[in-house]
Amino acid sequence: MKFNKSFSTPDPIPKKGIEKAKQLMESGHLFRYNPLDIPENTLKNEENDGSTLYSEVALLEKEFCDYTGHKYSIALNSCGSAMFLALKAAGIQHGDEVFCNAFTFTAVPSSIVHAGGVPVYLECNTDYILDIEDFKQKITINPNVRFLLLSYMRGHISDVEQIQQICEDNNIILIEDCAHSLGVTWQNESDQRPTHIGHHGAAACFSAQSNKLINSGEGGILVTNDEEIAAYSILAAGSYERLYQQHIARPSDEIFEKIKRDIPNFSLRMNNLTAAVLRPQMPELDEKIQAYATLYDELENHFADIAHVETPNILPEVQRVGDSFQFNVVGLTASQIEEFRTSAQKSGIELQVFGHTDNARYFRNWQYSFDEAPELQQTEEIITAACDFRIPLTFTKKDLQSITDIIRTLLKQIH
Ligand SMILES: *Cc1c(COP(=O)(O)O)cnc(C)c1O
Repeated sequence: MKFNKSFSTPDPIPKKGIEKAKQLMESGHLFRYNPLDIPENTLKNEENDGSTLYSEVALLEKEFCDYTGHKYSIALNSCGSAMFLALKAAGIQHGDEVFCNAFTFTAVPSSIVHAGGVPVYLECNTDYILDIEDFKQKITINPNVRFLLLSYMRGHISDVEQIQQICEDNNIILIEDCAHSLGVTWQNESDQRPTHIGHHGAAACFSAQSNKLINSGEGGILVTNDEEIAAYSILAAGSYERLYQQHIARPSDEIFEKIKRDIPNFSLRMNNLTAAVLRPQMPELDEKIQAYATLYDELENHFADIAHVETPNILPEVQRVGDSFQFNVVGLTASQIEEFRTSAQKSGIELQVFGHTDNARYFRNWQYSFDEAPELQQTEEIITAACDFRIPLTFTKKDLQSITDIIRTLLKQIH
């Protein structure tokens, strides 16, 4: 049995984005503060009289805010840059400790190190979300930590309402890593409507790297409702002199003029080509999420009756976006799991185990962030048995059946 389709097929760029990218290249207007002079790049609404030209990046920032409901957004070259900037904007000082998930992607602790911080790792549970009891304990042991960079791996959302409360009670600034959570919503019993994830912290960071929900190869967006964080981030991303005036939603000129000479320019801006390929993906997002949901639900049903497999629970408040599939294998030894991983790959299933020795999501591989590997027994046990694959939209229901059959057969043979 062999599966022949690629798991790594990225989503294609809509025709409109390709056309706009061509137009930009022909004009040379690639710098974000250099708008194309075409009528559709103006805005007419309550605040805008339709006479100002805006760049692709400025318009993307507006459209992103319209989607997630944030007041401000700043488009950057990556989500890693967004997390770095969010920490800087939140006031991190050299040597400060920052709480962070032990189960996440290496870019997350790297952004802390980049900002001069030192990660303090928190355990996850079998649903790949933060272990709240461990968080409380670590606060007691490390009472001076002032930041939490909370990562939502593969769009699995922790109990962020409870975490927000704990942060407030302990003077901890919460920053949300929503890299892989665009379109994910949160709604508790008393909320009238669901809200997009990223509204519980001081800032949230999204990614447009090819494997995420919108694809420009590379790209990141920092969102916030806080005007000081917004002003700092706009300036530090690389907005000098009066360029901030080219941002559509922005804090007052007085704030910028007051602080701009104190803020370095880190040159993290997004360029217009990137924004041009992203903009037409925004209106297609909800339809895409729906298509993922259909595939995900089908797979989850198939997996329900495979022995030695458990799929993660999702909190009732969360509507996850299922563009990838995770499951824990139960009752297998380390060598059996490795045998399963290699035989799955030989059968054409591009499956990874998060806790594999060469996986960038395994904390032991983040040696740059510690002198001695931290004790994280619970996370280690979970991620060494946690499997993951993407679900490209090119997959059909028949493909999902074949994947399930192969995995079921392999697990039966091994166990
Ligand atoms: C992809 C990803 C990142 C990094 O995003 P970049 O845009 O590549 O910097 C960070 N956190 C999570 C959870 C991710 O999935």
